[in-house]
Amino acid sequence: MLSWVYYFLLLTKHFVKTFFYMQPHVLKQPPTVVCYICGREFGTKSISIHEPQCLQKWNLENGKLPKNLRRPEPKKPEVRPIGAKGSYDLVSLNEAAWQSAQSQLVACDICGRTFLPDRLLVHQRSCKPKKNK
Ligand SMILES: [Zn+2]
Ligand SMILES: [Zn+2]
Repeated sequence: MLSWVYYFLLLTKHFVKTFFYMQPHVLKQPPTVVCYICGREFGTKSISIHEPQCLQKWNLENGKLPKNLRRPEPKKPEVRPIGAKGSYDLVSLNEAAWQSAQSQLVACDICGRTFLPDRLLVHQRSCKPKKNK
């Protein structure tokens, strides 16, 4: 009888262990990295291809903007690697990148909504201040 209980406990322990071990594998989605320039998500491989292109595009667009809308070049957020394997904390990395991308937005001085500077110029053509009757 005692050995049966022992076996049962061992089995339960095994299942709990397997359950917790399996969880991240089941729930894990392919990791995506947020671009710190445009704020879009990319796969860990395509981000390294996208970033230089995105920065180039950013510089091109920024140069076309009127002086008051030009922004300083976005800086890649520094997040120190964590863990023994040197894996990055993707969540905080993406959060920092997203915030960096958000700081690229410029607020419309008429309605207060935020836009990318080139979008803002298009928007301001149709944005009219509310008339106070
Ligand atoms: Zn980008
Ligand atoms: Zn507006």
